Order: sequence, then C-alpha cells, then structure tokens
Amino acid sequence: MTELDNTAGCPLGVRCESCGLEADDLAVVTVECALGVMCLTMCRRCGTASAETTLRAIAISTASRLVMQHAGHLGITVDDMRLLQNEGGRRPWAQPGYRWVQ
Ligand SMILES: [Zn+2]
Ligand SMILES: [Zn+2]
Repeated sequence: MTELDNTAGCPLGVRCESCGLEADDLAVVTVECALGVMCLTMCRRCGTASAETTLRAIAISTASRLVMQHAGHLGITVDDMRLLQNEGGRRPWAQPGYRWVQ
C-alpha cells in the first residue's frame, strides 16, 4: 500500500515554500489538507510549525497544484490519494479547527 507521507520521490526545492528563505537546513515535509497530501520544501523552523500555520501561508490554488504534484511523486492519482486518506481514517477536515476548506 502506498504511504502518503513517503517523500522518497519528492524533489527538494531551493528555498522554503512557507517563508521563502534560502536556508541550508531545508527538508521535504508532507502536509495533509482537505484536498489531499502535499509535499513542501521547508526550513526547519517552518517544518516544525503546526500544519495549520503552514497551510495559512499557502493559497488553495497552490495547494491543489502541490497535491497533484505529490500524487505524481507517489505514482498515484489524486483520486487514489483520496481513497487512501479515507481508508486510513485520515480525515483531518472533519476535525475541529479545520476550517481551511469548507
Ligand atoms: Zn521557512
Ligand atoms: Zn511529493
């Protein structure tokens, strides 16, 4: 079964996608939202911030693009990704505090 958090196939960007800094401690992290799971290159400071903080910095149009890209990294479709999220009971948008996508 595909692990949605697997970042083995994800390219590392040159700057943090959250704060825009070109840091030397960048890493690829996965963030889950109502659209799916996306991967982002982030510096250590942003990578350890809460997902909600991170997502607030990202436009929904960007997020949907990133989700599609990460599905490509995993070799699955966005539909597959949604199925996997539901199968695993990973439905963060059903939790309080998740007002990001209505
Ligand atoms: Zn950052
Ligand atoms: Zn990815």
